[in-house]
Amino acid sequence: MYLEKRRCFRDPISEIFKAAELLDRAANAFLAGDLILAEELIHLADMQEIRAWTESIWGKSSPYVHVRQISDEKPYLPKNQRSTNRMPTKQQQKLLLQRDGFHCRFCGIPVIRKEVRAFLHKQFPEALPWGAKNIEQHAAFQAMWVQYDHIIPHARGGNNDLDNLVITCAPCNYGRMNYLLEEVGLEDPRQHPPQKSEWDGLERVLQHGWIFA
Ligand SMILES: [Zn+2]
Repeated sequence: MYLEKRRCFRDPISEIFKAAELLDRAANAFLAGDLILAEELIHLADMQEIRAWTESIWGKSSPYVHVRQISDEKPYLPKNQRSTNRMPTKQQQKLLLQRDGFHCRFCGIPVIRKEVRAFLHKQFPEALPWGAKNIEQHAAFQAMWVQYDHIIPHARGGNNDLDNLVITCAPCNYGRMNYLLEEVGLEDPRQHPPQKSEWDGLERVLQHGWIFA
């Protein structure tokens, strides 16, 4: 049987790239001390179209995530048989970002680390809401949230070797849950080189943020 494989569950929508551009300008405004403009641009990037895109991928019974049985299925391991560390160390995270850049290895959208988001949330709590519920979170920062995704999921025996980890966005990570690539019909993103670009995940705001802290 021919099994079709895709690069990602759903192609990104143009609003995500518009939001990234707005956030890039917001970072520049912030660093130039124009906090009013920075706040306005961050607010404009909080687009409901992006929230709908995210929900369509990681939501319950997503029309974009199709699960199928494969023959060489890896069993789900009992918790005590999984490798002990689920999260890569800070040093591994840094190496992964250096290797992959700030783009999702599946869908290619620009991504932002939670540390950068938390810093900006502190500066702009109203323009960048981040509550406990999905609906209370800024739609662009939510979709663009950096994930250190296991190719063979931790629950299926995957470890934290850098070879088994890729940088992804939140919808691509949570949409796949604990399924193997083959089970959801995704291509192995490691077949394609990481996308290089000028996008720095807004990391530059952390270097100068103390001025306004
Ligand atoms: Zn993605």
